[in-house]
Amino acid sequence: MHLVLLGAPGSGKGTYAVELKEYYGIPHISTGEIFRKEIASKSELGILANSYIEKGQLCPDDVTNEIVKKRLIEPDCVKGFILDGFPRTIPQAKFLDELLPIIGKRLEAVIDLEITDDEVIRRIVNRRSCPKCREGYNLITKKPLKDGLCDHCNEPLVQRDDDTEETVKKRLKVYYNETEPLIKYYTDSGFMLKINSEQPIDKVVKDIVIALEDR
Ligand code: AMP
Repeated sequence: MHLVLLGAPGSGKGTYAVELKEYYGIPHISTGEIFRKEIASKSELGILANSYIEKGQLCPDDVTNEIVKKRLIEPDCVKGFILDGFPRTIPQAKFLDELLPIIGKRLEAVIDLEITDDEVIRRIVNRRSCPKCREGYNLITKKPLKDGLCDHCNEPLVQRDDDTEETVKKRLKVYYNETEPLIKYYTDSGFMLKINSEQPIDKVVKDIVIALEDR
């Protein structure tokens, strides 16, 4: 199973990818998460990525493509993968099209998670996560049991620096300019499955699994 999760920031890509990872037993590859780890380790790549991420911009295609290429040839990708947040531009999608046959893989589906801008903003500004175990929370839809603390580690929850309302609005603009054209790209190539992301998490995951099985 080789999947791409497409959708605006806050459409739930990361949340559903975690569920699908368990269900299909394949790795969840988030380019945003790879960049955040590099930023935390203060690597050269992290410093470069942060200069774009903090402004709500996309990191350069060549840098991002190289990261994905390295990751997809790791042994745990032998049975498949779930790409979360990649591709995000037409050149990235073309790069993936060229890379997959070279590494002996083929895409099965691209899942577009449909959501309104108002809901994106509402979800993102309320998004929190545990810095230790990385569990994600939402102050409205998935509250921690104890205010501000992780249910598993008791660590104080943190908010991503790029999850402010101001940066989210910039990220939405970038999404419409750079990423939305991928919907047509993948619809034309017959990979696209559209899923309503404004439903409870279990229902969205169920809809995705049913759509994949139908295919
Ligand atoms: P995410 O965690 O997917 O919301 O990504 C956080 C940030 O990382 C994005 O706003 C971009 O700045 C950067 N990023 C993640 N994936 C990509 C990508 N495929 N291409 C360029 N930049 C990316």
